[in-house]
Amino acid sequence: MAKYIFVTGGVVSGVGKGVAVASIGRLLRARGISVAAVKLDPYLNVDPGTMNPYQHGECFVTEDGAETDLDLGHYERIIDVNLTRSSNLTSGQVYSSVIARERRGEFLGGTIQVIPHITNEIKARVRGVTTETGAEVVIAEVGGVTGDIENLPFLEAVRQLHREVGTDNAVYIHVTLLPYLHATGELKTKPTQQSVRELRSYGIQPDAILCRSDFDVSDDIRDKIALFCDVEPRGVVPLRTVDTIYSVPRMLEDAGMGDFLVERLRLNATEPRWEEWDDLVRRIREPKRALRIAIVGKYVELPDSYLSIREALIHAGVMLGRGIEIDWVNAEHVNDANVETILANANAILVAPGFGPRGIEGKIAAARYARVNRVPYLGDCLGMQVMTIEFARYALSVDDANSTEMDPDTAHPVIDLMPGQRDVEDKGGTMRLGAYACRLIEGTRAHAAYGASLVYERHRHRYEFNNEYRERLGKLGLRISGVSPDGKLVEIVELDDHPFMVGSQFHPEYKSRPTAPHPLFRAFVAAAIEHPRDGEQVSMPLELALAR
Ligand code: GLN
Repeated sequence: MAKYIFVTGGVVSGVGKGVAVASIGRLLRARGISVAAVKLDPYLNVDPGTMNPYQHGECFVTEDGAETDLDLGHYERIIDVNLTRSSNLTSGQVYSSVIARERRGEFLGGTIQVIPHITNEIKARVRGVTTETGAEVVIAEVGGVTGDIENLPFLEAVRQLHREVGTDNAVYIHVTLLPYLHATGELKTKPTQQSVRELRSYGIQPDAILCRSDFDVSDDIRDKIALFCDVEPRGVVPLRTVDTIYSVPRMLEDAGMGDFLVERLRLNATEPRWEEWDDLVRRIREPKRALRIAIVGKYVELPDSYLSIREALIHAGVMLGRGIEIDWVNAEHVNDANVETILANANAILVAPGFGPRGIEGKIAAARYARVNRVPYLGDCLGMQVMTIEFARYALSVDDANSTEMDPDTAHPVIDLMPGQRDVEDKGGTMRLGAYACRLIEGTRAHAAYGASLVYERHRHRYEFNNEYRERLGKLGLRISGVSPDGKLVEIVELDDHPFMVGSQFHPEYKSRPTAPHPLFRAFVAAAIEHPRDGEQVSMPLELALAR
């Protein structure tokens, strides 16, 4: 019998519910229990693939090519599992499938309603995660905050599912915020009480409450919440704001959450193992010299737009004993005249993924600066295309090489629409998405970084390197270091005459894990260690850095 943990949010959004869910998953993984997670998103978009990152943060891509909520990135990294498209359910998916069935006449003349038709569809899909993954425990996170109109069908479905599987097989966890009043120096519990009251009005009585707070939560406050919300005192767990999200699992463990869940759900658990994770957190916290890495992108005012990239840099930094300080550089503000002032302080430059022409010339200027000044450069998807465009402009002595995405009439279309994309009209879910094999060419930096000949990486793009230019640019020094197994698609490029200038058509960041940094990020950060800023000393030889 599969077990369920249903997680709801109260008071305000943005309290770190996704990290809490992932950390709960880690508590179980640490006890040898298999876990899957599913995010239930109330919005009507089918998936966040069509949403502006300013609305929704990064779009995370799974192995099987689903464009999903960024919380799936937290789940994958912290629980250390690969999830699939079933792990992100949206109202858009639920309604469109129910309506499509109605059009096919499957409901035999019945009136289609939120209860039971929409709720049945939600329950079937959550149960589907259990069947598909075979996980012993499925954690389902209801997006949004209790009281939102949009998430009511999800709360109702969860309530029904809880009843169907029985109290021994399901727990409710509510994640809230305890606001702090500076004037009186108090943490306030009333919003939590009210939010639980609202939850109860939908028939959901939480078994545990995680209380996010910027300050220590006293036993008095804990007891008060337990009393007013009718939860066992040990079920009230403070979720203190922390310096690193990777310390949350251990915080929940120390508060007794792991044992609580094992007991409540009657799970077969082994002794929890925390050695590797504790060591990770210790190394994250160890004081270390910081590297400055410039991320050049369009959505830099909201760093969540590049969440997985930031985490991947941190993972590689931890392994190589360096802290990472990110300079968020708005590509729209960069040009050839100011690029030096903007990037002079960076040990390395990463040009971010993106769509459309806005900011493209700034990204090209950043790539040029990196090439000319031999600054380590990692081109991520669009960043690889930018690197190719910049190199072509220089090596072919033309100033209008471009991607046909940015200039459909360019005389030198070094990046062009993929053949399979030419007749695609719909925008949602139609890119080249998910994991594809990539063959690495021996003797290249990419091959050395991976130490492998065949790798699988996740994609999200419509445009690609134009093979018409492969030979010419190759001869001029742009090395093709990774290709699709049939050799037709260029997946990785690098410059011969440069310490580290590498671009990948895929997004390496999606596969980086805290205890297993991605090879390209690791090689990039190692190269950054070798590139001092003005007046900075290099402290560690490259071979040593790579060996760590
Ligand atoms: N816009 C480019 C393409 O579609 C790059 C996409 C990306 O960076 N994810 O190919």
